[in-house]
Amino acid sequence: MPLLTADKIHNGHSWLPSGSVIEVSDGGVILSITNGPNENAAFYEGVLAPGFVNTHCHLELSHMKGVVPQHTQLIPFLKNVVGRRNDFTEEQKKEARINGYNELVNNGVVAVGDIANTTDALDLRSLDKMHFYTFIESLGFSEQNAGVAFAYAVKTYETYAGQQPKQKRLKQAIVPHAPYSVSSSLFRLIDAHRNDVVISIHNQESKEEDRYYTTKEGDVGDLLVMLGIDDGFFNPTGRSSIQSYLEWMRPQHPFIFVHNTYTSQYDVQYAHSRLSDVFWCLCPNANLYIENALPDINMFIAEGANICIGTDSLASNTQLCILSELYSIKEHNPEIDWATLLKWGTLNGARALQMQDVVGSIEVGKTPGILQLTDLDRKGVEPSVRRII
Ligand SMILES: [Zn+2]
Repeated sequence: MPLLTADKIHNGHSWLPSGSVIEVSDGGVILSITNGPNENAAFYEGVLAPGFVNTHCHLELSHMKGVVPQHTQLIPFLKNVVGRRNDFTEEQKKEARINGYNELVNNGVVAVGDIANTTDALDLRSLDKMHFYTFIESLGFSEQNAGVAFAYAVKTYETYAGQQPKQKRLKQAIVPHAPYSVSSSLFRLIDAHRNDVVISIHNQESKEEDRYYTTKEGDVGDLLVMLGIDDGFFNPTGRSSIQSYLEWMRPQHPFIFVHNTYTSQYDVQYAHSRLSDVFWCLCPNANLYIENALPDINMFIAEGANICIGTDSLASNTQLCILSELYSIKEHNPEIDWATLLKWGTLNGARALQMQDVVGSIEVGKTPGILQLTDLDRKGVEPSVRRII
């Protein structure tokens, strides 16, 4: 059985004692972790860490790479994506999403929270190299069409739920796209669909979202006009989006709030007081791509938030790499140490996707995958990742 050691080993929680040795079965199961030294152990330079978990991706949008320019702000970005996502052949889309999938695998991702508007990603799940939590996104801001929008999501959900898992775990849930694209009726239908699923939602990715909820002014109205939606029924709540829509959902669901670029300290406290299982997914490179802004990460840390990491899609990112996301956070917040960042990219993602029993940490009995990370602290050099198990 392979024995592995390295300059440093992060087990998903924190650093292991210097010289620790990991024993792994041929099938990748962690058999033991012992204090070294052991002269039979293969030595790796740099850091060994468990496989990454990408909590928020849209593999079905991989063909949109480079299509939308950077720094447009969110609403113009969405108009571009909606307008252009179907300008491609099925072959072009398939080739791009398989390339995106392989990029994730090669960059050390072992489990993904993947957003789906279509059944396109069925073929990726059958490749069986990653665990999938597929979030089938329902959209529909018009109150009277909530039933139609939801019925489409249910059909998509059932197609995914009917797929037989092989080695890797396959999960799925119907989730709301975003506060400005889902009516209160549709929120309630999604909420009632199942008790036992994780709800993931794009949250406060743009300032315009809270502006619309508090005063019904700003760019969100323009987006709805472009989508042919009459928002005459919508009454502003006078509160932020998250404080409004959480009233339309039961607090028992586990939640993953994604982006949170403009989430306030009070919003975080509000969510923590109302919900028992909350993860805040940061997608820094996508935030920089679209809005050229980042969430107040130190505020989330001060509030004791569970932070996990996503890449978002290739429509809003130049690559699908969790290490690159962590490196961006480190560049902007050098005071956050790598022990914390690696926990966000591994164990916390696994907990958010409820897969911590198999991946996310180097612990006996799990099959987390093992990565070699180099150049974590070399000034001016982007670190690199290599999958070794
Ligand atoms: Zn997204």
